[in-house]
Amino acid sequence: MEEALVNIRGLTVEFRIPRGILRAVDNVDLDIYKGEVLGLAGESGCGKSVLAHAMLKIVDPNGYIKSGKVIFNLEGEKIDVLSLSKEALRKFRWSKAAIVFQGAMNSFNPLIRIGDHFIDTVEDHKGHVSKTSVFETASRLLKEVRLDANQVLRMFQHEMSGGMKQRSLIALSFILSPNFIILDEPTSALDVLTQKFIVKLLRDIHEKTGLTMLFITHDLAVLAEIADRIAIMYLGNIVEVADTESIFYDPKHPYTEALIKAIPSITGSLEDLRPLPGPVPDPVNPPSGCKFHPRCPKRMDICAKVKPKLVDVGGGHMVACHLYD
Ligand code: SF4
Repeated sequence: MEEALVNIRGLTVEFRIPRGILRAVDNVDLDIYKGEVLGLAGESGCGKSVLAHAMLKIVDPNGYIKSGKVIFNLEGEKIDVLSLSKEALRKFRWSKAAIVFQGAMNSFNPLIRIGDHFIDTVEDHKGHVSKTSVFETASRLLKEVRLDANQVLRMFQHEMSGGMKQRSLIALSFILSPNFIILDEPTSALDVLTQKFIVKLLRDIHEKTGLTMLFITHDLAVLAEIADRIAIMYLGNIVEVADTESIFYDPKHPYTEALIKAIPSITGSLEDLRPLPGPVPDPVNPPSGCKFHPRCPKRMDICAKVKPKLVDVGGGHMVACHLYD
């Protein structure tokens, strides 16, 4: 049986907005296994990033974690992240679990050189350090992401292309050798070729280091190339989790099926493409029962009344749908 690095249980995150309370993550249970790349996919606004950020207790000022637990199992120790003190949390982030935020552009301080970001990050966690030793490690990491360290360490963010910034940020996230890394839409702002290059790079790093990764994207085709397993999210709920092959070739949840049918193929006919039916419901007033029922071609009477539970339908393939009750 695979060993979980992270256990998420009953996690609920809400935001106060002028129209009311928006529940972005709704009672989510999810395990992330040691050494895997778990893909997290779903339409924009389904709660993927909120869920990932909440794992490190990062929530926007108008939001709060209403309930739940996030347990990291590290070197025989169980770390309950949501109950860590501010100082313990600061130490935990980056050294045990790092995050590459969406839009590398906004992650670097435009006033300091890339090299200083490496020094600041290490000093923030370890106190005063020798600049030479940090630059040695940074150079090795920049080389791993195929950048010229001599050039990049001296640059400011505005002197680099989007792909260079993203790769520098990935290298920076490895500086303290974390056990786990969250990649939040790391390729969405990049052109297709750079996107492909970064995905291959991350796959190579994963194969070399065995680092556990959570890769968030709305683009299922990207996950086909990198993820070992995929979790599908819809309006704050995980509706399906399975190995990548099963998600693509044997999807169980009607929403996953619809997502797969909406992926364009270069060789297939455009008529085969099926856009998802209907608009995404208002998350402040979500539908009752199964939140997908207003758009679901297979809905039954029970679907609007009872929320389906996430159940194992065999071999660790989890689905939340009354078709499999
Ligand atoms: Fe469709 Fe019902 Fe399954 Fe929801 S529970 S996905 S409405 S069949």
